[in-house]
Amino acid sequence: ASLAKVLGELHRQRIWPLFDISDDQDFKDATQVIATIDQNGLGLPDRDNYLDEDDKAKALRQAYVEHVERMMVLVGYNPKQAKDAAREVLAIETELARASKSRVERRDPKSLYNRVNRDGLAKLAPDLPWADYFKALGAPDLQAINVTAPKFIEGVNALVKKLRPAQWQIYLRWHVTRSLAPQLGQKFADESFALDRAITGQTKSRERWKRCVEATDQSLGELLAQPFIEAKFGPDSKKAVETMVFAIRDAFGRQLGQIDWMDAPTRERSRAKLAQMEYLVGYPAKWRAYDFKVERADHVKNVLGARAFDQRRRLGKVGKPLDRGEWLMTPPTVNAYYDPLKNQMVFPAGILQAPFYSPKASVAVNMGAMGMVVGHELTHGFDDEGSQFAGNGNLENWWTPAVREKFDKKGTCVADQYGAYETLSGLKLNGRLTLGENIADMGGVKLAFAAYRDLRKDAAEELVAEGFTEDQQFFLSVGQVWCSKARDEYARNAVKVDPHSPARFRVNGSLANLPEFGRAFACAPGKPMTPANACEVW
Ligand SMILES: [Zn+2]
Repeated sequence: ASLAKVLGELHRQRIWPLFDISDDQDFKDATQVIATIDQNGLGLPDRDNYLDEDDKAKALRQAYVEHVERMMVLVGYNPKQAKDAAREVLAIETELARASKSRVERRDPKSLYNRVNRDGLAKLAPDLPWADYFKALGAPDLQAINVTAPKFIEGVNALVKKLRPAQWQIYLRWHVTRSLAPQLGQKFADESFALDRAITGQTKSRERWKRCVEATDQSLGELLAQPFIEAKFGPDSKKAVETMVFAIRDAFGRQLGQIDWMDAPTRERSRAKLAQMEYLVGYPAKWRAYDFKVERADHVKNVLGARAFDQRRRLGKVGKPLDRGEWLMTPPTVNAYYDPLKNQMVFPAGILQAPFYSPKASVAVNMGAMGMVVGHELTHGFDDEGSQFAGNGNLENWWTPAVREKFDKKGTCVADQYGAYETLSGLKLNGRLTLGENIADMGGVKLAFAAYRDLRKDAAEELVAEGFTEDQQFFLSVGQVWCSKARDEYARNAVKVDPHSPARFRVNGSLANLPEFGRAFACAPGKPMTPANACEVW
């Protein structure tokens, strides 16, 4: 009983040994909020880090064990105890890794939806006293529950039966430590960074002020956002994005009319989904209120207070209708998202800054950068995952089988194309893991290009800049926003965990599939950027 209690108490503070629990929409009735239990409890970024047998994987596990060992010394273990504890942690997490779904398996929303509720949970893991768990979690009456990986919860049950209290103590202590170490004093922060360094190759920790801003963004994001909005986001930015959204939506509508692999019923439902798609720009209509104690002298307490407050807010929504105005990213974030369950694309103020968007830049340049992002998010509504959700956000098959088959074939073309790219010598991309993002990138540049041409069709004259035509400026802008640099370790990790392709392939992969690029730069047919076997989805 005490394991369940401690687990609930930690999950109440969003520290995640074994699994995590949070709010989600019901895949079969997207208007309702339920709780979802997902696999978790690993200290390394991916299940395969524990299971792969190559030298790099073994070296990373060795670095991990040594890191856990040093961390356990910092929390008071003697060297011998710390060594044993580190081996114990690796053994337990390896069993969890074996029970976990792979990232590619997790791209199938149908397999992630297992609405089991409390009864089903008790069947999957009968040896965990769930009533104690939910009581400690602060949600004793929580009933509506989805489990993303039932086999994983069975694996948790096997561990509950097998492990002794002393082993649980080590595992739980480790997860409390790893979760809080970045927020603790210098020794802990340094040791936490030592693992980041092994995973990403980064040689220096980010400056302290940046980490402080990030912690504030996580704890009080919509408060931090308000002065940022005041300083950096005017009504002109909002209008500019709306212009882009409308132009891109129209371009997608026009394309839908031309796509030859569609049949009439699926085309109609695609139009309906497009018409229902919402967009949110800048910041939420209503600011979130925060209500927890903040003390000047106790940073970790503040962080835990913020996490517990957030977890209470999330679980408090379960069993209630959805609030469509809530945001999943904070306004200063330089990112954007599409939420298939809300059929909503969201563009925080943080991304509506140069080089993504500038009131001083030309239409071609803004559309190559921010327009591509808008097209990318819109296309997510129709990628390998998004296409399984209808316009109302429900997981349902609205495609005719023949069209679905053609769509899948087009996806295979893209998966094969990107799967052949090497990020490091001998290390290829995972074409299936990155499929949705690659489809979105391809659709994004294509839609943005069509929309930019449409916006400029009545222009009196072409704006040539330093010898570059407007078409060329558009493509240069696409390349410029994804300009980036990565260390080998980072690239090796990203290929396993990141559903996005590395930036170089996001640009070259999607533009090689767009004939307008080859035309803009007068590339001969059959060259790397004008391949004969180009792929096209949307
Ligand atoms: Zn994306």
